[in-house]
Amino acid sequence: MLEAEGEDKQLLFKRSREITDHYIGNRVHLRGLIEYSNVCIKDCYYCGIRKSNKNQLRYTLSNEEVLECARYALEHQYGSIVIQAGERCDAGFTSGITELLKEIKKISGGKLGITLSLGEQSEEVYREWFKAGGHRYLLRIESSIQALYNRIHPGNDRHSFEKRVNALHNIRKSGFQLGTGVMIGLPGQTTEDLASDLLFLRELDVDMVGMGPYVEHRDTPLYAEKDLLISRQQRLDLAFKMIAALRIMMKDINIAAATALQALDPVGREKAIRIGANILMPNISPGMYRKSYKLYEDKPCVDERPADCNQCLDVRIGMTGSCIGYNEWGDSKHFTPKQEKVLTGI
Ligand code: SAM
Ligand code: SF4
Repeated sequence: MLEAEGEDKQLLFKRSREITDHYIGNRVHLRGLIEYSNVCIKDCYYCGIRKSNKNQLRYTLSNEEVLECARYALEHQYGSIVIQAGERCDAGFTSGITELLKEIKKISGGKLGITLSLGEQSEEVYREWFKAGGHRYLLRIESSIQALYNRIHPGNDRHSFEKRVNALHNIRKSGFQLGTGVMIGLPGQTTEDLASDLLFLRELDVDMVGMGPYVEHRDTPLYAEKDLLISRQQRLDLAFKMIAALRIMMKDINIAAATALQALDPVGREKAIRIGANILMPNISPGMYRKSYKLYEDKPCVDERPADCNQCLDVRIGMTGSCIGYNEWGDSKHFTPKQEKVLTGI
């Protein structure tokens, strides 16, 4: 499927759309993206906000700024938010998030669904955040091929593949709907690697997936390998095939139309929705910070305020033949059976 071209590729996309319509329906659910902080203790070779990038000014939103974003999501009937940030494990950070979660639950009367994407934490912290109100967690494996994972991360304990996999299991054990994903089109990555990634996602039986193209950033070590990259168009094309193939393999999971798709194609996310993605994460971070949460070049919407996005959302989603499920959490349909299994002890 990942190598399909011409008529085969069209058949692949047609089939993935049919499966989406049948198992998911035509509603796309929103997660208002709050880029909480670009402070990070890690040094992933591909990421613009890595600790060692001294060209990057650092910020952390105040609690009031986060609550303002949450109110915005509520008023605009987004249904859910996602809080994302660089990784920090100090007690000040983890307890700060716990307090924020409780506060968001309070001001929204429990109406806003909350996804977290805050990196590797101890099982205890995951449990604390789940108890405080987070219920979905996204931690990408980045690549399920250990040798490739090791090539794109520093070789130290803080960036270990085993720890990453262990964190995924702990997220699930703590009660969260589990989300993971990979970058597509990394230097030296093969189609076989990507096929293995899809099998990894199925094996782990994830509830949600966020995967998108790798996009280079000049202030990162991986930029030195840019001559090994396939073209941006090829990365985009591979990302669409990955989404379509995954939808065929895992029919009822949530699949996000990653922001990186929009960095490579202004309507990349809409194209992904047409062929199997069902989650969109519009950026609702305060406009003045957006330029500082720059993971890769050509990040979209950096000059906009949240209100600017609203007008285009309905039009953009309408173009795909789907519509927005306002005021709904849009949880992963895949999750329910597992939750029942835990509850009934099966
Ligand atoms: N720090 C947390 C973590 O790593 O899980 C959450 C934030 S991190 C910025 C979110 C995701 O951004 C990562 O999982 C990674 O896949 C993606 N990312 C970082 N740099 C990227 C790049 N150059 N191209 C595409 N995606 C990138
Ligand atoms: Fe930090 Fe996440 Fe970027 Fe890695 S991908 S450097 S953990 S923000």
